[in-house]
Amino acid sequence: MLKDQDRIFTNLYGMHDRSLKGAMLRGHWDGTAGILANGRDWIIEQVKASGLRGRGGAGFPTGLKWSFMPKSIPDGRPAYLVINADESEPATCKDREIMRHDPHTLIEGALIAGFAMGAAAAYIYIRGEYIREKEALQAAIDECYEAGLIGKNACKSGFDYDVYLHHGAGAYICGEETALIESLEGKKGMPRMKPPFPAGSGLYGCPTTVNNVESIAVVPTILRRGAAWYASFGRPNNTGVKLFAMSGHINTPCVIEESMSISMKELIEKYGGGVRGGWKNLKAVIPGGASCPVLPAALCEDAIMDYDGMRELKSSFGTACMIVMDQSTDVIKAIWRLSKFFKHESCGQCTPCREGTGWMMRVMDRLVTGEAEPEEIDMLFNVTKQVEGHTICALGDAAAWPIQGLIRHYREEIEDRIKARKTGRMGAMAAE
Ligand code: SF4
Repeated sequence: MLKDQDRIFTNLYGMHDRSLKGAMLRGHWDGTAGILANGRDWIIEQVKASGLRGRGGAGFPTGLKWSFMPKSIPDGRPAYLVINADESEPATCKDREIMRHDPHTLIEGALIAGFAMGAAAAYIYIRGEYIREKEALQAAIDECYEAGLIGKNACKSGFDYDVYLHHGAGAYICGEETALIESLEGKKGMPRMKPPFPAGSGLYGCPTTVNNVESIAVVPTILRRGAAWYASFGRPNNTGVKLFAMSGHINTPCVIEESMSISMKELIEKYGGGVRGGWKNLKAVIPGGASCPVLPAALCEDAIMDYDGMRELKSSFGTACMIVMDQSTDVIKAIWRLSKFFKHESCGQCTPCREGTGWMMRVMDRLVTGEAEPEEIDMLFNVTKQVEGHTICALGDAAAWPIQGLIRHYREEIEDRIKARKTGRMGAMAAE
């Protein structure tokens, strides 16, 4: 169990003062100027050495990502840090706790990360529905300007740095980094083709790095306590501490900071109060947000919650925000609901996603009611494979993966339903 002294987020539940004064009392903004004085390269090397990987779902090494930013820009364009606070994947609600209860971790991280990549400013793009979080974060930004921690000569370091907070309008696709950039520029939130990658041409055509809230908010503590301290948690390639969230059929849904590579069972039993009706009543877990393939109870028993652990089970660590489902769940219908979500959120730009998400959802409709033919199961699986990896952004994959997980683990249940329907054992069921 993670010891209290090793927690980065000391006000996750809002029990303490979230203002600058309270944050400083808990050790934030301590020696920030000294950290900056070590220089850009030192910061990037430390973040690389810590093993920190992006906490927004993709798990790309954070320090390496920063190192893609140009060292100098001969034509004088500014560079930007963009912080993805869109957090709109169903079940994912961890960054929210940082922004509303511990906002100074994020602003201090934004300053240090921006300095390390030579950015002139940070833009925080916050999800449209996060009204109170936006207020808390803006109040914290204002406090930092007033105290001289950001703005001109930030922390008396000689470095000028602005932090802007931008409120989105509630579209899921704006959590995709290039759609987010488009939206920030005032355009429709539609993903861009890559290349060019944002580090070459991002916001307003300038070098840009987009990072998740948690990835940025942990950086100051890593630099204060040392890369080795952070790397001492979790398994190699999966190091650090992490915010985990649990929702669904558990007794105490929560967000908790724990060491990487903790077991799924320990998280659910120790922090989630156990599965409703006991562990034996567990049916399935979606481990890291709606796009991650579902895992049946038998695989959850020994599942390790980290990038490699989930990959080995043919799922994904994602944001580590789990949806727990007990035996009362109609898992086919649960995945159908996700298909409906992804169809609704597709921006429609590329054909496999625009047509495929609708197609997949309509077959899922039929699987829920049992009206499908058995051969449609393989046909659906094939369609998910044609969508996966053939689209501009990852929404195509996100729509395909939950269905693949369903077919991989619950084929029998799907077939039973089709049989039951044909033999009249099952009455009409609506996919609504
Ligand atoms: Fe838009 Fe879907 Fe293509 Fe992404 S994959 S760009 S959401 S149509």
